[in-house]
Amino acid sequence: MAAPRPVVISGPSGAGKSMLLNKLMKEYKDVFGFSVSHTTRSPRPGEENGKDYHFVTRDTMKSAIDNGEFLEHAEFSGNMYGTSKAAVQDIQAKNRICILDIDMQGVKNIKGTDLNPIYVSIQPPSISVLETRLRDRRTESEESLQQRLHAAQKDLEISKEPGLFDVIIVNDNLEGAYGQLKDALCEEITKAKKVDSSCPELFADSPFKTHIRV
Ligand code: ADP
Ligand code: 5GP
Repeated sequence: MAAPRPVVISGPSGAGKSMLLNKLMKEYKDVFGFSVSHTTRSPRPGEENGKDYHFVTRDTMKSAIDNGEFLEHAEFSGNMYGTSKAAVQDIQAKNRICILDIDMQGVKNIKGTDLNPIYVSIQPPSISVLETRLRDRRTESEESLQQRLHAAQKDLEISKEPGLFDVIIVNDNLEGAYGQLKDALCEEITKAKKVDSSCPELFADSPFKTHIRV
């Protein structure tokens, strides 16, 4: 059986990517591994260095990029973000499905590598719902919030590009979106678990079986 493919999760800030990924990694502990990105933004309350991100200075990040240590990197909302080669290799060395949570520039840059992931877009039901969720999360300044809403509008437009994403999931109802995510990844989960079961058996108790393939 072929090795499981990595998974790229993208979508506007506040769409619910972290929430869905935390749920997935809790349910499938030894199956997935999160690629810990580097960023120059400050940690939010509760975020841990080395777990949520590697929080670094701009100088440190720039010199690591110049050294060829990054698979991709981007500037988002006034800060640098990037996936180091080591972050992905660490997960793959454990034979786990590597999950990358990256922005639209990252998606486009990864397309130019040989990573060959499944591309999943998590989207909010609307921009106004996104704004409410971001405000309720209480992590952003007004300036950062406006930058994220502006980027979201552009991202949602670009995500319609044919072939850019394999799956688009609208995160309206959390359980529904989670069911769709599991369903979209079931073949890779089966491969990673190395069990001889088909996807319907794997998710026999799941009421969510709809793929939205684009
Ligand atoms: P992202 O990682 O995409 O930036 P988060 O996972 O942090 O987004 O979610 C943004 C906010 O929206 C969080 O406060 C989260 O609790 C909330 N949220 C996520 N999904 C839903 C949902 N389906 N319904 C209501 N609130 C949600
Ligand atoms: P946040 O500041 O909300 O954690 O992340 C902001 C945006 O940066 C999100 O869209 C997230 O997916 C993206 N992001 C996080 N890590 C990376 C990365 O390593 N590379 C790229 N290109 N984007 C990233």
